[in-house]
Amino acid sequence: MPTIPHLTLNNGVEMPALGFGVFQTPPEETRTAVEAALDAGYRHIDTAAAYGNEREVGEAVAKSGLDVFLETKIWISDYGYDQTLHGFDKSAAKLGVEQIDLLLLHQALPSDFARTREAYRALERLLADGKVRAIGVSNFMVDHLTALLDRATVVPAVNQIEVHPYFAQREVQDFGAEHGILTQAWSPIGGITFYRDSGHTSTLQDPVIGEIARAYGRTPAQVMLRWHLQQGRSAIPKSTNPARIAENLAVTDFALTAEQLAAIDALDTGKRGGPEPDAVTLEAFGRAIPEA
Ligand code: NDP
Repeated sequence: MPTIPHLTLNNGVEMPALGFGVFQTPPEETRTAVEAALDAGYRHIDTAAAYGNEREVGEAVAKSGLDVFLETKIWISDYGYDQTLHGFDKSAAKLGVEQIDLLLLHQALPSDFARTREAYRALERLLADGKVRAIGVSNFMVDHLTALLDRATVVPAVNQIEVHPYFAQREVQDFGAEHGILTQAWSPIGGITFYRDSGHTSTLQDPVIGEIARAYGRTPAQVMLRWHLQQGRSAIPKSTNPARIAENLAVTDFALTAEQLAAIDALDTGKRGGPEPDAVTLEAFGRAIPEA
């Protein structure tokens, strides 16, 4: 079983660098997928209140008896101080745990940043009370991070953003690095480039990545995950296929050269696959998160 490197967050908490993503994994497939991930050696799962599968993640983890780093996210409909505290209660109950390892705000709400701040203040409270071990954000751009840091008492440990070879968001990553905020890559192998019609072809079919993969007898997904690890990022690939779940973890026994890393860096198109963070509003994206 591969040994996954750990990253140390800005408050000293240790997190496995590779986690297992479950976005778009239907609840009825989540338990099996998480069991396959735990069998393959993952010890870190990334879910979210909005994914509708926290309960199944919790069940698979509980059944395994393993010590697993659990990461989840508060949806925008639960922003506000009291609402976010209650959002924690819902997620913790569904996951079947008293303490969550890493709790994120899923998006900034730029049109109602005061509400985003109140949600973050609730995360700070949960951290102070020991209900979460670390707190962070997701899809925060430099202006959102700047506005948050202006009033926050705790620097987010993590910013989970879209990062793959076709969209690297260097300026957000650099801002994070300057402030001790770890970048965690979602769609790390470019998932959004092949299941969304986003105007460019899939990273899996990219000739530069393909050539590097062939040179090592590896797959394009493994090359992209190496790129993340060697550049110090956390990454959370998703799969429901047991062979691909294991493949995505088998990335600790080879290393890319500086030239190969640079060649992958050069593939950045600057084109986002996911929603424009400034377009995220309660009107467009709000939806009730069920009680536990
Ligand atoms: P990924 O880059 O992880 O790609 C997932 C896709 O790749 C799936 O279609 C999967 O299919 C396929 N796949 C997985 N492994 C391989 C492989 N080795 N070779 C070929 N194809 C492969 O994208 P996601 O968008 O799923 O992102 C990963 C995780 O990031 C999510 O599950 C979620 O946890 C998080 N996320 C967070 C967001 C946020 O806003 N904070 C937004 C989007 C994602 P199959 O299952 O059939 O293997």
